[in-house]
Formats: sequence, structure tokens, C-alpha cells
Amino acid sequence: MDEFELIARLTQQMPANPAVIVGPGDDCAVLDFGLPQHWILFKTDAVVEGIHYDDRAAPEQIGHKALGRCLSDIAAMAGEPTSALVTVGLPRDYRPERVEAIYRGLNRLADQHRMAVVGGETTTSPERTFFSVAVIGKVKKEHCVLRSGARPGDAIFVTGELGGSLAGKHLSFAPRLAEARWLAEHFPLRGMIDLSDGLASDLRHVLRCGGVGAELLSDAIPISRAAKARYRDHLSPKRPLEAALTDGEDFELLFCAPAGDAVAVLDAWKVAFPRVRLSCIGKISAEPGIRLRDRRGQETLGAHGYIHFAQP
Ligand SMILES: [Mg+2]
Repeated sequence: MDEFELIARLTQQMPANPAVIVGPGDDCAVLDFGLPQHWILFKTDAVVEGIHYDDRAAPEQIGHKALGRCLSDIAAMAGEPTSALVTVGLPRDYRPERVEAIYRGLNRLADQHRMAVVGGETTTSPERTFFSVAVIGKVKKEHCVLRSGARPGDAIFVTGELGGSLAGKHLSFAPRLAEARWLAEHFPLRGMIDLSDGLASDLRHVLRCGGVGAELLSDAIPISRAAKARYRDHLSPKRPLEAALTDGEDFELLFCAPAGDAVAVLDAWKVAFPRVRLSCIGKISAEPGIRLRDRRGQETLGAHGYIHFAQP
């Protein structure tokens, strides 16, 4: 049973109450606590030594990533994070200086977003260190963007550049919080998700939630220099386009907007965020599945983003 099948089973009959606007299955839970104009966002995520980082990673970066993953999910709802709880599991022979440095990295990222860290828990973990972070945020009801809602004809956008994150970006990425809030304030967004498992895989969640498909233009997909360098230097067997489609941990945003707004989104973005790329990579279609088009033709993307034809 893969991770998605397990999640599907576990979330079949979760207890709910009237506060739940959106339960399991989106980037964050959305809760209504009766605040004027606002909903609460609730999210938890964990990093485990040997899985999400190795012991060569700088400790500050581990803390940055532990919180940053949650913040990327708050961004995916166009929300604003407010506070966090941190649970840490430590082997008996832990090094206190290293744990303190991990917290420094986490606290620094929290500070940058004017967040409070308001407590947590320490526990013994037999072999490996792990950090689990829970974050509360808020979002104006009219700006909250879900994974669902993409409609045939919508333009599909991604922020930043994709692929090759293992070369370093996965430990130092900037969650796209300001960008997402700005987008939601200015444009009618829908079908937004952060890219944690890879473009092909995460886009599929948006398509499933909307009951739609997608046509992507392979030349429009923004490939990172790291993805190109890792292939060139034989550090990864994935060709750059395949890396951009399937490498995880980009922590960029994917979202949809009406095609009629596409040029306005791109133009206004350049002024608001001149140092971050925004690309329109294709459009939503009524026909299910993901089709990738280039000059030679089109091909359906397999379940894991595998592509057959020759790539740049
Ligand atoms: Mg997410």
C-alpha cells in the first residue's frame, strides 16, 4: 500500500464538527471559529533525519526546512501564519548545541514572518532525530484558495524554477507566502497547491479535486539551473525536463486562473516580484489526464511523470 492509499483509508471517517470548512485532503485544514471575515488554517508536518535531511545538513537549515514545509502549505491557501508548536524527538546521545542551532534556524524563519513559537514537546526517539511542527494561520474568507475549483480553459501557473532541489534548495527555500497573498488579493485564483512531491504528482491532486485534466507545454516549464547541472555532471540520471516534472521539494506554488487574466497576472507579477519567475505552463482541459506538448507532438504523462520522448 503506498502513502496515498494509506492516507485515503485513514481519512475515510475522520471525526468532524461544525467548525470544519475543509478537512483532510487540502494543503491545510480550514476552520471557522467565528472570527469576523477570517478562517483559521491548521497544518502539521515533520522532518526526519535520513529522510528529509542527512546529518551533513547545516543545523540552521534543518530548522528552516522543518518550519518552512508548513509555511509552504499555509502559502498554498494564500494564508498568513501566526504561531507554531514544535515537537522534537531526540536519540539518547543527542548533541545539545546542534539541537539549539536547529531551533535557531526555525526561530529565524518564524521571525521573518512575524510568527510566534508558543511551545511544543520533547521526546526520546530511539535512533533518529525528528522535528514535527504544527502551525496555525489565518486567511480572509474571500482570499482562501483551495486545491479544487480549476475549470477547463484556465491557465496554469508555477512560481520559481523546478527540479534539482536536492542540490540545496530543499534546505533553504523561501515559502511563497507574500506572493500567494498578493496573488489572491489581486486575481481570482483557484486550484492552488504547493509543489512538494513534484509538478506532475502535485498537479494531479489539483486535477482530481477539480474533475479536470491538463495540457502542458514542455518549453514553458521553468527548469532550474540545478536540474540541468545535476544531469550534466551525472549527479542525477534524470534529464532536466523530467527532473522539473518529477523531482520533489521545490516548494513553489502551482495555481490556476481564468485564461482572460493570464497576461494581466504575468505583467503585474513582474512589477510586484521582479526577482521571482512566474510561468504560465499550460491550460486546464475537460479531458482527464496530463498531456505534455512540444514541437514534435504530444504525449500523455504516466502516473509518475515518466516521459518517453527525447528531451533537451
Ligand atoms: Mg502541500
